[in-house]
Amino acid sequence: MLIDTYGRMATDLRVSLTDRCNLRCTYCMPEEGLQWLAKPDLLTDDEIVRMVRIAVTDLGVTDVRFTGGEPLLRPGLVGIVERCAALDPRPRLSLTTNGIGLSRTADALSAAGLDRVNVSLDTLRPEVFRTLTRRNRHADVLAGLAAAAAAGLTPLKVNTVLMRGVNDEEAPDLLRWAVGHGYELRFIEQMPLDAQHGWQRADMVTADEILAALRTRFDLTAEGETVRGSAPAERWLVNGGPARVGVIGSVTRPFCRACDRTRLTADGQVRNCLFAREESDLRGPLRSGASDAEVAALWRAAMWGKKAGSGLDDPAFLQPDRPMSAIGG
Ligand code: SAM
Ligand code: SF4
Repeated sequence: MLIDTYGRMATDLRVSLTDRCNLRCTYCMPEEGLQWLAKPDLLTDDEIVRMVRIAVTDLGVTDVRFTGGEPLLRPGLVGIVERCAALDPRPRLSLTTNGIGLSRTADALSAAGLDRVNVSLDTLRPEVFRTLTRRNRHADVLAGLAAAAAAGLTPLKVNTVLMRGVNDEEAPDLLRWAVGHGYELRFIEQMPLDAQHGWQRADMVTADEILAALRTRFDLTAEGETVRGSAPAERWLVNGGPARVGVIGSVTRPFCRACDRTRLTADGQVRNCLFAREESDLRGPLRSGASDAEVAALWRAAMWGKKAGSGLDDPAFLQPDRPMSAIGG
């Protein structure tokens, strides 16, 4: 098991399949993109499947989410999903994507064994989408969402980051739209993980502000069973349910005490926290002949050292060197 000194157990693995992306969301990447990882540095498809196998057979991982960068840009994605779905025990498999190209791949991903997808969409307005992502692909995302729903990749969640003065007025409209389509909307507070280091706490739209805006149009009740540790409820019933909305206050309502995540970057580094400043190299040992048991032991050691919290509230907080797109959000 992947246990840390605070008694938390990591059962949810996030695997980044690439650091590349076809969008340039302003809260994530600069317009010119980033210095991408070189191909030889990326884990191969075989190496990724081996790492997932070790995680589920030796380390108690039950859920695997593929992310990036943009995971749909990984040529071997369908094969990776298929091979992970054949593992015993079979992990639940999900994908976080910007949705571009999903209209072409949703059926194949579902057939390969993918269970669910989260699609990121921050606005209902194509011109705002273009400002926010610096690309004119709004229609592609909507088509991807529809294809994912048709392929049964449900419950389908939509991730939204609000930016003050850009799309923050849209919160209630986004919720009405999501409820109408049967998608579960989740607002995520903007975190200091952008490559440009432009995040400012004062600019961030907080969970409290999001909830207040939603309550101007909807009745929200906390879902009693989902209270995480001492953190406030993360999911809310909309107008009595069954529709739900999530508000993830990673900055103002951190849920570190209940964190069950472990992360593998596209170049084979284990991270025990999104905000960790250290990571543990597993690619080196993997490529120099380490056994499954040796890799598992290194992974356990990496998780054992997980800190109590993200440190975001510490005045001495330092943003990790890797941006969100290279960690795997
Ligand atoms: N490209 C895929 C996508 O956008 O869904 C997967 C990777 S992306 C890094 C994963 C999630 O992180 C997205 O929902 C995105 O909105 C979110 N994200 C990126 N940068 C963020 C930031 N600075 N703060 C909060 N969420 C962020
Ligand atoms: Fe790409 Fe996702 Fe980052 Fe947007 S949030 S630039 S889609 S990796």
